[in-house]
Amino acid sequence: MTTQPLDLANLERPALEAALEDRGHQRFHARQIFSWIYKRGVTDLGAMTDLSRELRTSLNEQFTITTPDIVTRECSKDGTEKFLLRLNDGKQLEAVFIPDTPAMTFCISTQVGCAMGCAFCLTGKMGLVRNLTAGEITGQVRALAGALHMLDKKFNIVLMGMGEPLHNYDETMRALRILHDDHGFDMSPRRVTLSTVGLLPALEKLAREPLMPNLAISLHAPNDRLRAELVPLNKKYGVGDIIAACKRFPLAKRSRITFEYVLLAGVNDSPEDARQLAKLLSGVKSKVNLIPLNAAPGIPFERPSDAAIDQFARILADRGLIVSVRKSRGRDIRAACGQLIVEGQQRSPGQKLAIALP
Ligand code: SAH
Ligand code: SF4
Repeated sequence: MTTQPLDLANLERPALEAALEDRGHQRFHARQIFSWIYKRGVTDLGAMTDLSRELRTSLNEQFTITTPDIVTRECSKDGTEKFLLRLNDGKQLEAVFIPDTPAMTFCISTQVGCAMGCAFCLTGKMGLVRNLTAGEITGQVRALAGALHMLDKKFNIVLMGMGEPLHNYDETMRALRILHDDHGFDMSPRRVTLSTVGLLPALEKLAREPLMPNLAISLHAPNDRLRAELVPLNKKYGVGDIIAACKRFPLAKRSRITFEYVLLAGVNDSPEDARQLAKLLSGVKSKVNLIPLNAAPGIPFERPSDAAIDQFARILADRGLIVSVRKSRGRDIRAACGQLIVEGQQRSPGQKLAIALP
């Protein structure tokens, strides 16, 4: 009987140690293998030269390490680079490198498509194609860091590409543990931000995780009536419940929850909306990130005027909130927030339906 080689990209180090032991090898080789994969970007087991030739030969028969292939790489005028990546099964996804924010940041995906269907988001229009594995999530980081010669550099990660990370909870958390491993990327969780639309049970589970990323909540409206129009999930988990969960969320010293708020002209950008938002967030350790809509064909909203954006921000700031307005990066190559959608591949029935909807 031949067994399929095991994909090491999906394994945390303890799981790799166990897999090595199962196959009659020493556990400590896991540290060496991790360091080759994550620190040096080497995924050919035969090239891991501090392992004996005999061991390399048998590892090559028993294991594989898959990495997403880079299909295209587009560079924006502002330095943002969008990568189209191909997974092992041919599905494609996008990941974005954003330089100097001031940190170097990788914006990576947790799903192909997304099931949440937010009214202003192109990824939402695709529907969910499938979840990514932990290896595919960390593989985006390996692919980008390798291509950009940044394997030995410090960078931040935002889970703000395609997909809802808390809808793919286990693989996302496994990916964070792999990224954190001190024999691998050794990423501090403080350098990772998880952005969620507010899947409440998963948010409560996240609050109990030993490894805690920074949290960003995609709020977009100060009340249930308005939010339910923009974020269908709000019909299940309302604004009050999300804010209550945020108040209970364990935060490190000096850290705050980011509230993302996509500004849509004439929909959620009035002075009254700003006042309601300020009231809602009083008593929450928060900062607000206003994201003027990145308009796109098929998205039935418009970006507010600069004056309306300023006024909205000022009302929040006057009430003591920390506010920033997100500068949209990479809009010329459609790499900006909510603009990630993979074209030209076989569409799922869900996608076809989503695209056909008015
Ligand atoms: N699913 C998660 C993370 C990915 S979306 C979430 O929703 O939080 C990342 C951010 O991009 C979210 O805040 C989302 O609301 C925002 N976004 C989506 N579509 C957008 C658009 N058309 N213009 C600007 N921001 C958008
Ligand atoms: Fe999914 Fe986030 Fe887009 Fe909503 S905004 S559809 S949750 S990716």
